[in-house]
Amino acid sequence: MSIGIVGTGISGLHLALRLQQFGIEATLYTAQEPDGIRQGPPLNFVTRFDSTREREKALGITEWASSAYDNASMQMHIEGPGGLSFGGRLPRPASSVDFRMYLASLLEEYGKRGGKVVHRAVADRTQLTELGAGHSLLVVAAGRGALVETFPRVPARSPYVSAPRQLAGGLFHGVRPSDPPGMTMHMVPGAGEIHAPAYHSFGGRLSAVLIEALPDGPFSAVTGGDYRGDSDRFAKDVLALITRHAPALRERVDEREFALARPVDMLQGAVLPVVRSGWAELSDGTFALAIGDAWIANDPLTAQGANLGSKVAFQLADALRARGGAYGEQFCRVVSERMWATARPVVDWTNMFIGEPPPQMGALLAAAAADQRVADAFIANLDRPDDMWHSICRPENTDEFIAQARSVRSGV
Ligand SMILES: Cc1cc2nc3c(=O)[nH]c(=O)nc-3n(C[C@H](O)[C@H](O)[C@H](O)COP(=O)(O)OP(=O)(O)OC[C@H]3O[C@@H](n4cnc5c(N)ncnc54)[C@H](O)[C@@H]3O)c2cc1C
Repeated sequence: MSIGIVGTGISGLHLALRLQQFGIEATLYTAQEPDGIRQGPPLNFVTRFDSTREREKALGITEWASSAYDNASMQMHIEGPGGLSFGGRLPRPASSVDFRMYLASLLEEYGKRGGKVVHRAVADRTQLTELGAGHSLLVVAAGRGALVETFPRVPARSPYVSAPRQLAGGLFHGVRPSDPPGMTMHMVPGAGEIHAPAYHSFGGRLSAVLIEALPDGPFSAVTGGDYRGDSDRFAKDVLALITRHAPALRERVDEREFALARPVDMLQGAVLPVVRSGWAELSDGTFALAIGDAWIANDPLTAQGANLGSKVAFQLADALRARGGAYGEQFCRVVSERMWATARPVVDWTNMFIGEPPPQMGALLAAAAADQRVADAFIANLDRPDDMWHSICRPENTDEFIAQARSVRSGV
């Protein structure tokens, strides 16, 4: 019997394509046709780091490999009095491509390679259970929709009970790329963050602007505004917010050109960070595993959710291959704890970043602003969650990380 995979985001697609390579039969259940994905609004502004790009290479996905989509650096600005700025290079470039284009093309590719795709929405646990009877294992990769209820929240791993940020963003013309071209993050104490990566969408190169607002703070008017049918007013309000709070970003904006690429290219929402149980028994002897956002949702601030979804999909594919069948409770229990070991540094790091920063964070950012080697080492860790978490989880680790970064290239 085959594996059933519900959902065609990066988690479900990378799993399906990997299983296909391994010769393991899988059926993808999708609520959306590729053109429906393309025509919808953006649900995110994903940057894929090099590790994810390497997995795409392993899958033989070449369409999004072009250096035209590269973002090779990240600049950080802590705004306001006592603020600081630094920029670091990623050892290998990340890629920022509109996920509507990316996911639609991967779904088509899976079909072209002979993969089985069933177009149907799986409404609830009852339908999931019916589906489970026809598969040796179900994998739920359906994002943050209704099916998450199948997997109970794990309070000990989920410190937030309400979303720590409200989100609003869009794909804009009229923002000059940073120098060097890449991603920029503007952290505004007491208000939130503005993330502005260079981005590739349907019309070519532009910029994503994502506002992360602390609840009831100065950014809330934009994240909570009603802009239905009024994309011009949205652009105007975003520009006013940038002008007031992120001068370095404002310098890159040409006011006459600043506008959403298309009215559909905006989003508003929030992510409640949560870790759910990684597996559930659907009926006697039938099990479902959760991956991606269906299992763990992270705030987008650290740009990790999609990268983690891909990593865990590969890890699960390896485990399914190694096991070769009979995916019962013991298998689900063991594999989901192994996947948790992979995911945990991302969760801990992201939750620390969106919370009240501990003193070692301030020390690290100051050291990065003072020394390019520290800045580069810090930015490189965006693609190394284990190292990132290790370097910030305790003040003494941060001291060690800074000292090591300072010594490496000077040969001390
Ligand atoms: C504004 C924003 C910016 C972000 N930036 C980044 C970033 O830079 N880097 C990064 O790594 N992550 C980022 N993320 C997080 C990232 O978008 C998610 O973690 C990732 O896309 C989750 O992928 P997924 O495959 O698990 O789920 P999803 O992408 O949500 O896919 C779920 C799929 O399941 C389908 N589906 C849902 N319900 C059903 C159903 N009932 N039946 C059948 N199918 C169903 C959906 O149609 C969809 O195809 C960002 C998120 C946001 C909101």
